[in-house]
Amino acid sequence: MSTAVAPKKKIHARPEVRRTQLLIDGEWKNSVSGETFPTYHPATEEKIADVAKANAQDVDLAVKAARKAFETGPWPKMDARDRGRLLNKLADLIEANLDELAALETLDNGKPINDARNADIPLVIDVLRYYAGWADKLCGQTLPVRGNYFSYTRKEPVGVVGQIIPWNFPALMVSWKWAPALAAGCTIVMKPAEQTPLSCLRMAELAMEAGFPKGVINVITGFGDAGAAIVKHPDVDKIAFTGSTETGQIIMREASHSLKRITFELGGKSPNIIFADADIEAAIHGAEFGLFFNQGQCCCAGSRLFVEKSIHKDFVKEVVSRAKQRKTGNPFDSETTHGPQIDNEQFKKIMDYIDQGKKAGADCVIGGKRHGDKGFFIEPTVFDNVTDEMAIATDEIFGPVLSVLPFDSVEEAIQRGNKTNYGLAAAVWTKDISKAHRVAAALRAGTVWVNCYDVFDAAAPFGGFKQSGIGRELGEAALASYTELKTVTVSLS
Ligand code: NAD
Repeated sequence: MSTAVAPKKKIHARPEVRRTQLLIDGEWKNSVSGETFPTYHPATEEKIADVAKANAQDVDLAVKAARKAFETGPWPKMDARDRGRLLNKLADLIEANLDELAALETLDNGKPINDARNADIPLVIDVLRYYAGWADKLCGQTLPVRGNYFSYTRKEPVGVVGQIIPWNFPALMVSWKWAPALAAGCTIVMKPAEQTPLSCLRMAELAMEAGFPKGVINVITGFGDAGAAIVKHPDVDKIAFTGSTETGQIIMREASHSLKRITFELGGKSPNIIFADADIEAAIHGAEFGLFFNQGQCCCAGSRLFVEKSIHKDFVKEVVSRAKQRKTGNPFDSETTHGPQIDNEQFKKIMDYIDQGKKAGADCVIGGKRHGDKGFFIEPTVFDNVTDEMAIATDEIFGPVLSVLPFDSVEEAIQRGNKTNYGLAAAVWTKDISKAHRVAAALRAGTVWVNCYDVFDAAAPFGGFKQSGIGRELGEAALASYTELKTVTVSLS
């Protein structure tokens, strides 16, 4: 007989904030204007630190440093294998400082420490190591051309890349952006989100310690205007952006002036489809985890839960019971599974959607309220009997709000699952293997999970159909967007 032992409650220590300045050309600098902005702990609303606030002048300095490093620094002369070695070294340093980085992430973002320690930072390390292995394997082809010529292709780095990231997975987004760019030989100007600059700055410090040449990685902290200055800068060759679809549209318009290369990872409203013949226990977990993980602040959150009518009532009861069991509170407490939303703006936006759901006539079967009176906590919320046209079924809420939509047939689930401008992810739960593959093929989304949810791997490409994005991150696919293909033709006569 075995006895389950409850894990010991542990409150993790808050980390020291070591870096708050801009990193430009290997130097830590105040912004040219001298201005700063505060970053807050979302669980207490207390200020953590003041961070340098960059404007277009700082961006210009960072782009100049990245251009110099790309063209004349040691970086372009470095063997590809040594670039891989540096990526591995950075991964090792992050692993050695895993607890500190996880705590920094929890402090700045508010996510439960267990998630940061066991998901975010280990994935960061994995992504860096995966691309370290790619650095010396980016090769072209020889081409069977007509005539007395020898033709071959080369994969060359695209140049200086501007990378703009959001606040939901701050460190993980740094790794998704830096690792393929560095493996390909690009240089970087990165802007982390204004809500969560701290883990990016610490990772940049570790990159300096690893030995990346100065100017290869530059970090600009600031707001949307600093991001816009990166997009507008004529000497930036490519923009890689993760964030809202609206900002993606602005960036696309702006980047078109100089035909910059762009890759976008934008919003989603992903269908999570439960058939009556699924492994119900696994599907209940998939429904709960697929939406509530990271407080619903996931671009691929399974926010539209389609449940076959014959199991709908019982299934929703179980999901509600799981939602009830989520432990909301201090994210530094190892027992906490549900933290605060990132800031007051997101808090208000989500509460407004909850209000809209209630007014539209959906059944709010659990949650729907603020938790406590300090911090941006929202109770895990489930709406049942949602219809396709309600705002809670069409819009990306980016919070802990699950919409349940009952359905009757496979065709109906596919058709309604695809009824969205988004196309980032989807999931299907069934024991019928033919049905699983048929539905996976029919869903218009960049990722389809079958009998699982939120399974990420450095080797598996991720990105969106339709308005959820352009291009792919992760896997070999990401490297294509950080390289230009050059054809060289040599006369043999
Ligand atoms: P956002 O798209 O405005 O911000 C993301 C990043 O873009 C930040 O670093 C921000 O400073 C920068 N930015 C803002 N305006 C810019 C501009 N004009 N040019 C260049 N960079 C700019 O997202 P947000 O305001 O933080 O969140 C709004 C909504 O976006 C959320 O409610 C959610 O629906 C969605 N969102 C999606 C993701 C995702 O992973 N797909 C992540 C965060 C937020």
